Amino acid sequence: MTSPGDHLETDDALRVLGKVFGYDSFRGQQREIIDHVVDGGDALVLMPTGGGKSLCYQIPALVRPGVGVVISPLIALMQDQVDALRAVGVRAGFLNSTQDLDERRMVEAEFAAGELDLLYLAPERLRVESTLQLLGRGSISLFAIDEAHCVAQWGHDFRPDYLQLSTLHERWPDVPRIALTATATRATHAEIASRLNLDGARHFVASFDRPNIQYRIAPKNEPKRQLLELIRGEHPGDAGIVYCLSRASVEKTAAFLVENGVDAVPYHAGLDAATRAANQARFLREDGLVVVATIAFGMGIDKPDVRFVAHLDLPKSVEGYYQETGRAGRDGLPSTAWLAYGLQDVVQQRKMIDGSEGDAEHRRRLAAHLDAMLALCETVECRRVRLLAYFGQESTACGNCDTCLSPPKSWDGTIAAQKLLSAIVRLKRERNQKFGAGQIIDILLGRRTAKVIQFDHDALSVFGIGTELNESQWRGVVRQLLAQGLLAVEGEYGTLVLTDAAADVLGGRREVHLRSEPERAARAGRSGTAAKRAAVADLPEEALPVFERLRAWRAATAKEQGVPAYVIFHDATLRQIAAEPPASLAELGGVSGVGENKLAKYGESLLAALAEAEA
Ligand code: ADP
Ligand code: ZN
Repeated sequence: MTSPGDHLETDDALRVLGKVFGYDSFRGQQREIIDHVVDGGDALVLMPTGGGKSLCYQIPALVRPGVGVVISPLIALMQDQVDALRAVGVRAGFLNSTQDLDERRMVEAEFAAGELDLLYLAPERLRVESTLQLLGRGSISLFAIDEAHCVAQWGHDFRPDYLQLSTLHERWPDVPRIALTATATRATHAEIASRLNLDGARHFVASFDRPNIQYRIAPKNEPKRQLLELIRGEHPGDAGIVYCLSRASVEKTAAFLVENGVDAVPYHAGLDAATRAANQARFLREDGLVVVATIAFGMGIDKPDVRFVAHLDLPKSVEGYYQETGRAGRDGLPSTAWLAYGLQDVVQQRKMIDGSEGDAEHRRRLAAHLDAMLALCETVECRRVRLLAYFGQESTACGNCDTCLSPPKSWDGTIAAQKLLSAIVRLKRERNQKFGAGQIIDILLGRRTAKVIQFDHDALSVFGIGTELNESQWRGVVRQLLAQGLLAVEGEYGTLVLTDAAADVLGGRREVHLRSEPERAARAGRSGTAAKRAAVADLPEEALPVFERLRAWRAATAKEQGVPAYVIFHDATLRQIAAEPPASLAELGGVSGVGENKLAKYGESLLAALAEAEA
């Protein structure tokens, strides 16, 4: 960089945006946030994934004198973040536990000499007095606290090391601080502000909507098959993330996909560090890999072209779900968030909460998170309206979620609920027995299974009173009564018991509304053979081979330089080049995403690849 801050003209921020990053205008509130921080103000920024948070601290760090210090928990990604910045000519470095002493010393020296624009730091570094002393020796332009929700105990991602970030302000009262996060309910938002002493900061709250993501929640029957159908039907060759709850199901699902011809790798904490790092690196660097993972994967993964995020198990909270699904479609192109959800998920999660360590307050918090997640799954309203409401934002039906695209019917399930609840009551009163959902449903359906005969359950008065529904419908009823808090599960076997609230249903004082189970999981939108990969949607037919050629050029270039493909250019940039091929370097420089540094570095080579493709 040319000594930032010294003699850039009036609109420094806009110049840096164009010159360094190759973009011609700010998005959303970026302009206001950047101006505020450049002027030395503190800021708390709530913006969804893909909203463009990074520029909100990177540009002020380049415009203000001194080094911008970025606190981030994403150690594994710092190298890529720094590479991406260096690719556009920004002098960036990082300090974390993955480095050896020599590497650290070198970065420290660069920092002290004022030779960096940005320094990324893991939060635990700040526990070490020598780091604080190092910071004291340089000149700091700002502190950026990334993933700021990690400071909140109410949230889903608490990191104790974040608590000490409040002391930065005491030591450097004149250095502006900007805290950023993509997940914040009102409770988390308030907690971030108070724990980081940001009460005097300006709050910037963007819309949390991610309109390009299609949200779908499907009844789970054969989850692996359903997943394969999703990938084959809608996302062949696309990059995606599949979340599973357990390591075992991660392994099984990844193996299943590979057997069925999908390029997939597993990722979970049980794999050795080298395998994990290699799988993550492949995902970032290659174009169409699927990662099957536990939620250990993905924080801060800023790969822009993840086309789908699938959950094979129920997430534990709406915040977690929104953050995980938010990893899809950062580039703004159409993407899918798909979740398969069934009775067993509810049973399992309730059991996990009951068996969890920690005090009653902690369990109450977990239960509240789960209830909100269940309410989202069972809603007959627009999913997006519910999601945004959870983050305190009002909206209207979106037209791009499963309930909008094929509205589910709701039905009066009061009588069904009464039948089910009374079957449980009878077993308890007359036999002093408790059973799980399977046996109760067999009784309602009047099935003389071995277990029914063994326990003489065909003699109960409730035997066979529920033949108007089939098994999967009854499972839906059980699941929804659990979700609505009218039933609870107990013990190792997940036996069903009534809650206090159930008395009102049995007494006819409360109606029960249920969502009807679609016969077959409706596959909304872009389906079947008409499916087109999102990355090439809207591209004119003749531009397709050009786009593919450019991607091949990008893959080769990325490999040669050992960086992720998107560090070279994003899909969106290649699309624009394929659609309207520039005739000269100057024209290429006008394409969004092509800054001065990249033009100088890749311009010739890209134009050559383009000429070949067009020949
Ligand atoms: P976040 O950190 O909020 O998830 P990023 O900072 O990674 O989002 O930005 C998301 C994507 O949008 C990136 O690919 C980034 O280069 C791009 N982007 C950000 N701001 C702009 C802008 N003003 N114009 C064009 N693209 C932008
Ligand atoms: Zn909707």
